[in-house]
Amino acid sequence: MSQFFTNRPPEQKHRRNHPVMRSGHKYGIEFAGLCLSDRVYCAPTHYAGRSVGCLAALGKECEHCEKGWTPRWFGYIAIIHGKTKEIGLLELTAAAATEAAEFAEREGSLRGYVIIVSRLNGKKNGELKIRFERAKQILSEIPPSFCVTEALARMWRIKPELLVQKMGVEPTVEEMEKRGQLDEGDFKRHTTNGAA
Ligand SMILES: [Zn+2]
Repeated sequence: MSQFFTNRPPEQKHRRNHPVMRSGHKYGIEFAGLCLSDRVYCAPTHYAGRSVGCLAALGKECEHCEKGWTPRWFGYIAIIHGKTKEIGLLELTAAAATEAAEFAEREGSLRGYVIIVSRLNGKKNGELKIRFERAKQILSEIPPSFCVTEALARMWRIKPELLVQKMGVEPTVEEMEKRGQLDEGDFKRHTTNGAA
């Protein structure tokens, strides 16, 4: 039975909200981020005061598409910001996301790499540019990723299952391991940490 007056509120479910990091004023026009995701997660979105996922892409009615707004594709990667060390979702334009996806396919994974985002000519509205560098950390020192699809679903206030159906689940560490992306130490550490 719930009590109305207690010394402290009942324990809240901890659901961390991961900030969206874009090249700009807040996080810097140019910044580096250590990739936690092994690939880039792409989705069509609308801007309705805040970024929202396009529900039409999920086979639902989308009020924004009905208004005639064209959805814009963005890509998301879980990163640790190089300077602030915050963990968040790096947002990439469709063109930059395509490059990141090609890089991930070529290399097998984004983990083990630092992504550097910048703008053409350093201008705030310049075209978004990305490049990758090898991370200084070895793979076993890179923390596990959070679930990008769940974070996006939370941000867009839609059911995670809907997104997972479309975007696919993140590979488990076992799957990554099979692809040779993680060494044994990393694998053990992740599994003993439980679901991160
Ligand atoms: Zn839509």
